Amino acid sequence: MIIVLEHNAGESEKQDLKAFLKEKGFRVREIVGEEEIILGAVGIAHIDLREVEVLPGVARVIPITKPYKLASREFKKEDTVVQVGPIKIGGQRIVVIAGPCAVESREQIIEAAKCVKESGAVILRGGAFKPRTSPYSFQGLGEKGLKFLKEASEVTGMPIISEIVSIEHLDMFKEYVDILQIGARNMQNFELLKKVGAMGKPVLLKRGPAATINDLLMSAEYLLANGDDSVILCERGIRTFETYTRNTLDLSAIPVVKKLSHLPILVDPSHGTGLREKVSSMALAAIAAGADGLIVEVHPEPDKALSDGPQSLYPEQLEKLMRDIEALAPVLSKEVYKLPGYGDDLRMVSIKGSAGSRAAAGRTVSAKAVSGREAKSPGLYKEEPAPLRIGFQGERGAFSERAIYSYFQQDKEPVPFVSFKNIFDALLQNKIDYGVIPIENSLAGSIHQNYDLLLRYPDIKIAGEKKIRIVHSLIGLPDAEIKDIRKVYSHPQGLAQCLKFLEKHSEWEQVPYYDTAGAVEFIAREGQKGNAAIAGREAADVYKMKVLKEGVETNPKNYTRFFIIAMEGKDKINSPDRASFVLSTLDKPGALYLTLKILAESHLNMKKLESRPFPGKPWEYMFYIDVEIPEDQEVFYRSVDEIKKNTDYFRILGIYKS
Ligand code: PEP
Ligand code: MN
Repeated sequence: MIIVLEHNAGESEKQDLKAFLKEKGFRVREIVGEEEIILGAVGIAHIDLREVEVLPGVARVIPITKPYKLASREFKKEDTVVQVGPIKIGGQRIVVIAGPCAVESREQIIEAAKCVKESGAVILRGGAFKPRTSPYSFQGLGEKGLKFLKEASEVTGMPIISEIVSIEHLDMFKEYVDILQIGARNMQNFELLKKVGAMGKPVLLKRGPAATINDLLMSAEYLLANGDDSVILCERGIRTFETYTRNTLDLSAIPVVKKLSHLPILVDPSHGTGLREKVSSMALAAIAAGADGLIVEVHPEPDKALSDGPQSLYPEQLEKLMRDIEALAPVLSKEVYKLPGYGDDLRMVSIKGSAGSRAAAGRTVSAKAVSGREAKSPGLYKEEPAPLRIGFQGERGAFSERAIYSYFQQDKEPVPFVSFKNIFDALLQNKIDYGVIPIENSLAGSIHQNYDLLLRYPDIKIAGEKKIRIVHSLIGLPDAEIKDIRKVYSHPQGLAQCLKFLEKHSEWEQVPYYDTAGAVEFIAREGQKGNAAIAGREAADVYKMKVLKEGVETNPKNYTRFFIIAMEGKDKINSPDRASFVLSTLDKPGALYLTLKILAESHLNMKKLESRPFPGKPWEYMFYIDVEIPEDQEVFYRSVDEIKKNTDYFRILGIYKS
């Protein structure tokens, strides 16, 4: 049964409840969800649910009807997210595990690890104990193989996964491996499942070649019931009458598992097909079907592999597959998980000509210091706290940069990026501490791209907001006067917002440019007295240009609202007063009305309602809602509980101080 606690239930009520259930013969597991705490009680004991319902602190009791309890969606509505070192598996992420079938030598696994990392995959696989059909086939290097694998992990910073085949090896695996793999052949080795479950480490459980989905979930239940809550399922193909492929990859298992269970599920297209040339297309199909990621075999020299060479990708094929996954992810509104520090430096260096490099010269912190955490040297001296690194989109002097200066009081270093998406990726890669993104302008409306990005990156949350007034200036060379001007450069929005002023100078040629601050950089670089730009006055300071006239915008009530974004859990926000969330309603009359009615009845003041097309689902919509939240946050969380009953998708984007 599932026991949902009241929001204001105290610790002592919870402990009393646990003691009561244990005394009745139940095993009790606690789940702290995003919005509620639930206790799961499982076991062979029987009890009248009403006995539990009346206990203090209990909001409601729900029976679990499935034979698997802890693994069921009934037990836990939200997706389980398994944390492996810096990596999260589950939720709206796509995680790719790759590596050779078997560890063959120190050099082989280190080389494989480097190409896996380079491709953008995040976890390294490699078998050291290989369950082979023939006793004469290569059986793996055993403990030596695990040692090499561990070394490859240390070289690359990637967590590792390897298959355990025997209870005797438990201590060895505890020492070396981050995720234990239970192979297809051992899926129903219940003694192994019990012992591995009790270790409490992340486990990847592969579906047996003749196992039903129900069998798979019952095996997962063994792991969960023995205390492990980091279980990842894996579809790797089943035996059918078809012989063309090694197994029949059952992709329909993914939506079925997603409905029945909260556990993440990966797909192994390598064992699923047994044929290299089928691996990438089935991998993409698996992602499209909703898999949380892949486990793929790749080998530096597949033709020389000691096991499963014919199904192992060449390194270039893995690289191509990763790029294709990156392209598919936005359609599914998912984030492709990256290793912190992975990837190209996403900062803006140059958009056109020497634009960025000149701007870069003005930075106070060296490029090295912004490229990763490791750059901070652990010196003997007491170090100054490093300035906060805050990403924004645009050239130096952009309005977003001003938002940074007016929001953050601390020592800081604004870091310019070419695109909004780059800011999100840089946060994920731990290259910046915060990002600042415009979300709406009082005259031009919402910046939809940023709403879409907030939806795609579940690990990034709104941590604050800042509204600033947009004041445009006409900016020229230091020795220029208004009478010298012939051409005006600015972002089309900048030109449009200054229409009245520009009408008075109809002889000036208006030239659209990609960025307001970028236009100032451009006229500075060109050095022509007849050129001017329309931008914020900060841009004039950055590029040492002159403000010829300030306040040239038609409507002085021109404000832009920015979101401060950060990785989830970065800050504890004291006394928040605003919540932003996104939902999609059920397809029935009055569904949105019901949501709004709940807000109204809870006296939650709605500040914004915006609808956006559901990415990848034509004519379905997501609603973005901002509400004021009262001091007693319970009021908000209670209405969230109610709203969830009427929605088929719901996520809080941030709870912050407005
Ligand atoms: C493997 O991953 O190398 C393996 C042996 O897989 P499975 O257990 O799915 O056959
Ligand atoms: Mn294999």
